[in-house]
Amino acid sequence: MRYSQYFLPTLKENPKEAEIVSHQLMLRAGLIRQTSSGIYAWLPLGYKILKKIMDIVREEQDATGANEMLMPTIQSADLWKESGRYDAYGKEMLRITDRHDREMLFGPTNEEMITDIFKSYIQSYKDLPCNLYHIQWKFRDEIRPRFGVMRGREFLMKDAYSFDMNPDDARYSYQKYFLSYLRTFDRLGVKAIPMKADTGPIGGDLSHEFIILAETGESGVFVDKQWMEQDFTGRSIEYADREGLGKYFDKITDIYAATDEKHDEENCPLAKDQLIEARGIEVGHIFYFGTKYSEPFGAKVTDKDGNLVTLEMGSYGIGVSRVMAAVIEASHDENGIIWPESIAPFDVAVINLKTGDAACDAFCDNLYKTLQKNGKDVLYDDRDIRAGNKFADIDLIGVPWQIIVGPRGVAAGMVEIKNRKTGEKQEAAKDKILDVIG
Ligand code: ATP
Ligand code: MG
Repeated sequence: MRYSQYFLPTLKENPKEAEIVSHQLMLRAGLIRQTSSGIYAWLPLGYKILKKIMDIVREEQDATGANEMLMPTIQSADLWKESGRYDAYGKEMLRITDRHDREMLFGPTNEEMITDIFKSYIQSYKDLPCNLYHIQWKFRDEIRPRFGVMRGREFLMKDAYSFDMNPDDARYSYQKYFLSYLRTFDRLGVKAIPMKADTGPIGGDLSHEFIILAETGESGVFVDKQWMEQDFTGRSIEYADREGLGKYFDKITDIYAATDEKHDEENCPLAKDQLIEARGIEVGHIFYFGTKYSEPFGAKVTDKDGNLVTLEMGSYGIGVSRVMAAVIEASHDENGIIWPESIAPFDVAVINLKTGDAACDAFCDNLYKTLQKNGKDVLYDDRDIRAGNKFADIDLIGVPWQIIVGPRGVAAGMVEIKNRKTGEKQEAAKDKILDVIG
């Protein structure tokens, strides 16, 4: 992509309305634009990153064997009356009346709808296990939308649902998702700690929130120091492959981590000096809630002996749009965003220090094409502006590698390569660039 042809409106100053660094940087880097309170348009660069996050989330869901589908944003109130949540959800639910005076709503979540769909088709134990998910916009009329997409009113969620014959199978599904969440966040380049959590209005008795520690986080949390000192994610994935899911799950959930609602000072197993009290951002939440929805909806299947059994269900959410803000909270410096390579909007930026100079232009055009031919997604800064402004913009948007091309280097066939994360710079001959950036 040539920067001169890209819609990438960066801002020099921090917008006054943005209180936390991720919100400031998302506005300044031209990722999002607020269109009304808690509602955002995703500009091209922001949308590009959002799609990368979605792809990773999707790949890991597919790897668990879940089926992707897409349910509508608008739902009928009838389903929610059946589950009893129509009134319970209160003002957070955006209620809509259609032209025939039918009560509709913009879905805040999909347990009711998925249960209704599932029970229409699945009648026998032979069809289980079967898990479904979608990635879809949700609306919650938050009392205090703030921090940009961190707490929006319209936001993108991945929500998955498991259906099993009995509590043991359902717990196995839960453990599978638990592990897949560790993998997902690991690939997204963040450390999300699974914490024992309250189930809230969804109901049920087994639940974990996946939380990224950050001073600006809205949740108070208590975690064992070990979580900070060791990479349990990488090791536990290995461990689960080797020892089996159940054993691994018991072991990892034995390392203390709890949200403040669940933390109980008196019964906490840890000594004071082993416990960290911190703040964090909830990026995922998983629940095993049993028959809370299958019961009222009559979602049953026949078992081997022909008996009807009510389905045991769980649901599994990831805040896809919130994750982007959380990654930025965890990974930035005074110059801007530092994207993990897996979700960076481009692999590499080529910065032409002297646009209009025939030799520099020819060198950069050629380099741009060569990198593309080698499978790199390249942002070529070909704008006719001061070099200092180019450096500032490219640092701000956080591309992992920068290749800086100036007249002196061109004459010698050399470029400068900068690593955004470490700030390290090195000279390289043109044909050695790929050796450096991989
Ligand atoms: P919170 O406690 O932050 O309000 P929640 O517990 O109500 O979230 P869930 O119902 O568990 O949210 O939804 C699944 C995921 O969706 C959350 O873990 C979070 O990452 C994301 N999410 C929830 N509400 C919002 C929101 N208003 N804006 C952006 N993401 C959200
Ligand atoms: Mg939650």
